[in-house]
Amino acid sequence: MKKSPQLRDAARRCERLLVIYTGGTIGMQGGDAGLAPGEDFPMRLARALEGLPASIQSALPAFEIESLEPLIDSSAATPLTWQRIGALIAERFDAYKGFVVLHGTDTLAFSAASLAYQLQGLDRPVVVTGAMQPLEAPGSDALDNVVGALRFAASETLKEVAVHFAGRLYRGTRVVKRHSEAPDAFESPNYPLLGERVGSDFVEYPARGLGATQRGAPRFELASYAGLAQGEVIRLALWPGISAWQLEALLGDVRVKGALLQLWGAGNLPDDPELLEVLAGVCGEGKLIAAISLCPAGSAHFGAYAAGSGLEQAGVLSGADMTPEAALAKLVHLLAQPLSEADRRQRFLTPLVGER
Ligand code: ASP
Repeated sequence: MKKSPQLRDAARRCERLLVIYTGGTIGMQGGDAGLAPGEDFPMRLARALEGLPASIQSALPAFEIESLEPLIDSSAATPLTWQRIGALIAERFDAYKGFVVLHGTDTLAFSAASLAYQLQGLDRPVVVTGAMQPLEAPGSDALDNVVGALRFAASETLKEVAVHFAGRLYRGTRVVKRHSEAPDAFESPNYPLLGERVGSDFVEYPARGLGATQRGAPRFELASYAGLAQGEVIRLALWPGISAWQLEALLGDVRVKGALLQLWGAGNLPDDPELLEVLAGVCGEGKLIAAISLCPAGSAHFGAYAAGSGLEQAGVLSGADMTPEAALAKLVHLLAQPLSEADRRQRFLTPLVGER
């Protein structure tokens, strides 16, 4: 049977990846006010890739690039940015065998986590990457990061949102930016790598991925984040001396719908019953309040110490070993869903995409 030109075109595209360029240092160029997203990134990237050795070029999958306007420094991203990237992938989903998202590193971990919640049940890869140095900077990490992201995004076994950076492949909901300058700026404190570059090979560890458990069609959840993009979900880290009036001022604001608390160690807070009263009060009003540890690695266990034992009773949800990025993006995602409060709380405590 002869395929019509449209079908042939669609089939060809199914063999390709879509690269979505959102901005970030990777494509930035110097301007009067400092680095800002530069023009013509697709052409600049093509030129840079042509300069690579033939052996690297020939191993790359074919791809098309689409830019998300306006290009941003990811420090300006909001939940609406996450929604736009998720919506674009969902819209183009059937036409491509995998996706690469080029993103600024500052808030990359939030976007990656949010994409994982929006694009649940993925049957193909979505790989997010960026760079600490602009593409054209001497010794830039940009090209290596793009090459690795393209290679992993062409995988048949990777079926989740992942982040590739400095030769390592992380689960998108498990990654944090840990360094403001080093090329290996990311880490995954509580979950092992999904893959890594070994010499010139890109090795995947499928037993650690979601692909092994992925069944059936994708179950995307593309709710609008519009009512949650202006600070309605807040993040609050403890400090010695924090007082109930301060907690009340932040959590009690009528605009606040949810909050992520970062507590001491295993999930402790100062021995002040008024703090728990504030928390019980706002949970009672239906606000979604969760807590994780301030420690970069490990898990929160409410009740391990007397200093944390009242949290569960107050209605605070344990974020266990989630990263701050994954926990905050999950609060936003669940608050955007048409769910009852009980279901929302239940889903927060349930691993949706390997985030806890
Ligand atoms: N400020 C930049 C951004 O997040 C940093 C980077 O991309 O590395 O967009």
